[in-house]
Amino acid sequence: MRIAVINYDKCQPKKCSLECIKACPGVRMGEETVVISDSGKPIISEELCTGCNICVKKCPFEAIHIINLPDELEKEIIHCYGENKFRLYRLPFPRENSITGIIGQNGTGKTTIIKILSGNLIPNLGDFKEDDEDNLRARVIKHFSGREIGDYFRELYSGKIKAAYKPQYIDALAKLSENAGDAIDKVCELKEDKEKIIKALEIEKSIEKKFNELSGGELQRIAIAMTLLKDADIYFLDEPSSYLDIRQRLNLAKLLQNYEGKRIVVVEHDLIVLDYICNYIYALYGIPGAYGVATMLKTAREGINEYLLGYFREENIMLPRGEVKFDKKSISAQWKGKILTRYEQITKKYNGFELFVEAGEIRKGEIIGILGANATGKTTFAKILAGVIESDKGKIDLKLKISYKPQYIRIESNEKVEEILKKINENIFSKELLNEIIKPLEIEHLFEQKIRELSGGELQRVAIAACLLREADVYLLDEPSAYLDVEQRIKLAKLLRRFAEKKEVSCMIIDHDLLFIDYISDRFIFFLGEPGRKGVATQAMEKREAMNKFLSSIGITFRRDKLTLRPRANKPGSVKDREQKKKGEYYYEAF
Ligand code: ADP
Ligand code: SF4
Repeated sequence: MRIAVINYDKCQPKKCSLECIKACPGVRMGEETVVISDSGKPIISEELCTGCNICVKKCPFEAIHIINLPDELEKEIIHCYGENKFRLYRLPFPRENSITGIIGQNGTGKTTIIKILSGNLIPNLGDFKEDDEDNLRARVIKHFSGREIGDYFRELYSGKIKAAYKPQYIDALAKLSENAGDAIDKVCELKEDKEKIIKALEIEKSIEKKFNELSGGELQRIAIAMTLLKDADIYFLDEPSSYLDIRQRLNLAKLLQNYEGKRIVVVEHDLIVLDYICNYIYALYGIPGAYGVATMLKTAREGINEYLLGYFREENIMLPRGEVKFDKKSISAQWKGKILTRYEQITKKYNGFELFVEAGEIRKGEIIGILGANATGKTTFAKILAGVIESDKGKIDLKLKISYKPQYIRIESNEKVEEILKKINENIFSKELLNEIIKPLEIEHLFEQKIRELSGGELQRVAIAACLLREADVYLLDEPSAYLDVEQRIKLAKLLRRFAEKKEVSCMIIDHDLLFIDYISDRFIFFLGEPGRKGVATQAMEKREAMNKFLSSIGITFRRDKLTLRPRANKPGSVKDREQKKKGEYYYEAF
């Protein structure tokens, strides 16, 4: 079976010479293999296409995919968004009384699956010409009849099964001037659970505020509470950990685990959180924007390991990117670069908040991971380093230039991505910047788009590029992993490592994805204290010592997975958890 997919966001017929049509051997022989539709964009006939791939190579915007798929998938198509558009094959079916995770690259169909299973999108089983909803529903029930999933759709469509859904992007909530507590009351159908959930998510104070006064982490937890307080049979949480710190992520995991008797589906790119929360996993493979195939149901450990190893055993599918390695070298690597700057003890008091930073130094070419709860002064420290705010005590080398990517990026500008990036660095089309920054972040095709129209993940990548394109001594990135998928996080880790070493600059990365930050950092600074009141920052410490200290402060132990060497959180009270706590070994290295 052969499919032809055109990424219509990338396709720009006004800027190319219609290479896809001109170069097509079928068209040259007078066939209508590629034609221009009423919308002015090309359509490729899958019947006539011979799979020569010439158009794929000739299209200057890399908009075309011609893909050969195994014939057996043809019968398993679940949804197609239209001619030459994205197709989803096979449908995960979450088990009752359990938490099922979905992992996969962005654009391989995770949200499509959630929309289908929650009843917000009726799958067309590949027939995108049928648009009568009753017909579509009847077809779905017939298609899956005799299987548990068929009963599920019948009950979902008749209103017997109710679904609750927390969408991926919660930033829209931030514009509301409504009081968050009132909004929760409006949707709350489980009055008896309200107090428990508010307490578990630690939003007692947040519910007294208006949406537009809340931080991203608060907004996220309010959105989760609004979803969990619905009286539903199945709950969908799309990326619930974005903007939450590690402790909040693990609190959320504990809360969900106590939700016995409910079906919960979680889409999540923080693999430590996913591993900790879920009983089962479905992974997706395919080509982002072109097609996605769901694997069979796997246990959480097996699913995540296979995903990282890049090989799905039962399906016999090898991912082209290969294996993500956590080898001994990368785990214990320590950069011994020259000193870039030393700073004295720093103190700063403002708005009822007090920050104390131990004296320390930053080395050239190193990546310092910054760990700590939200509101313990990480951003204040960054601003002091950047000279944006002055410390009460403690000297900083203010000659240091700091380039900063903030945690929340909201840009309401009509400017195009290219214009914005060019203002920062006019050489964005130089070979070096294209290869080192633009291409690995996969943002070239966004250049023509207006910045305000980008999705969260696209905006994140553009903001990272903007930060790295500035000339600076220290690059400080606050939560760069938010909205990025696992492969994008790994690409980013490699990009930053190359960038820091090659330019002999330092990177400081604040992030709450432990797998990512563990993978990328040479040393760690961590922030302790009472969120919103007091923060204490350590000097940069060796990785193992810092992780041990940090994890003991939140009372969680980690082991390393034997197969992939990835860190895994131990279940509280398990044999390993008790043994490691006794030894004071919170961060276990399997060597
Ligand atoms: P994920 O959640 O894994 O990022 P999605 O399910 O959102 O993936 O989308 C998969 C692909 O389907 C996207 O790349 C997008 O191009 C396409 N897609 C999603 N929604 C639509 C739509 N309404 N019309 C056309 N294409 C869509
Ligand atoms: Fe031009 Fe490529 Fe679009 Fe064809 S697919 S019209 S070559 S941009």
